[in-house]
Amino acid sequence: MRPVRIPRRPAVPRYRIRRAGPPPRGTRSWPVRGLIACTALLLAGCATGPSPRSDTPHGDYAEPPLPAQATAIPADSSVPVPDDPDCGDPTASLRPAGPAATGPALNRIRARGRLVVGLDTGSNLFSFRDPNSGVIVGFDADIAREVARDLFGDPDRIEYRSLGSEEREAALIDRRVDMVVKTMTVTCARLERVAFSTVYLKAHQRVLAIKGSGIESLKDLAGKRVCTIRRTTSLEHIRRIQPEASILTVPTWADCLVVLQQRQVDAVSTDDSILAGLKAQDPHTDLVGPSISEEPYGIGIPKGDEDLVRFVNGTLDRIRADGTWSRLYGQWLSALGPTPPPPAPAYRD
Ligand code: GLU
Repeated sequence: MRPVRIPRRPAVPRYRIRRAGPPPRGTRSWPVRGLIACTALLLAGCATGPSPRSDTPHGDYAEPPLPAQATAIPADSSVPVPDDPDCGDPTASLRPAGPAATGPALNRIRARGRLVVGLDTGSNLFSFRDPNSGVIVGFDADIAREVARDLFGDPDRIEYRSLGSEEREAALIDRRVDMVVKTMTVTCARLERVAFSTVYLKAHQRVLAIKGSGIESLKDLAGKRVCTIRRTTSLEHIRRIQPEASILTVPTWADCLVVLQQRQVDAVSTDDSILAGLKAQDPHTDLVGPSISEEPYGIGIPKGDEDLVRFVNGTLDRIRADGTWSRLYGQWLSALGPTPPPPAPAYRD
């Protein structure tokens, strides 16, 4: 689909971009941006003359560009929403194996000496670079570290590969990563292509809007613009449940926050856990409306790597029992409320 520029509604006041926490992937810090902008202006000879845009309604400010690869899906689009096939309980996984287990995938990873994990390196609360240490931290990152701890006795033996939501399945199918730990919902459709661990977090899809915008529920999104990402359950649910909303898809959830702040969309819809991270980055936003769907997260593993699925389920069992899961939830996800009990595992064998 061709990228489309979404017209900004003139009635909406301009909004200053705020960024707390790490900048979204692919963006530069304000000082660096400023330096680049000044250099560009000097090279263009603009520093000595009036800005060519100074007669625009916004003074010297140009229309903010949309993120690269932003794509619009109009309301009531004829593009079909894929059906989720029925596979019984998709969250039922394989029974755990102990830490001494062996198998083709485990042997390969142990021989390599590190675990290759795909995740989003700009996802607040789940996986982002700590600005002080430069280390990737967050709930997903720490779950991955527990698997490395059981494999190598060392949680640091991990190589991270940065993955967008859209790339998760392909990275597993092409075996570019040993596992994906990236807010990935277990679904019957995905189980046709990849395998999953037991559930390590239960999220719910909701809506994030600017405070005072009048958007309080899904119903209010009819005729409005909603940001989401392709190949996510978030996109499928919003299109199915509110077909009268027009959609803007962008590469990352951090991009969704930027287009919301720039008033190029009216709302963002995805899991409450991800939205809580965006809200923490911009206190002018709020989660609104009830849950649209249940989003049980599993660790994605290439289909066929059953030994690894069982091993990972062993780690998840350990961290549910030894208090690690509750400690990590309290550390990263307290914005979602008091720490619940860890999700009970379901097995199919
Ligand atoms: N849980 C949703 C999914 O797996 C959205 C999460 C994300 O894009 O990271 O599609």
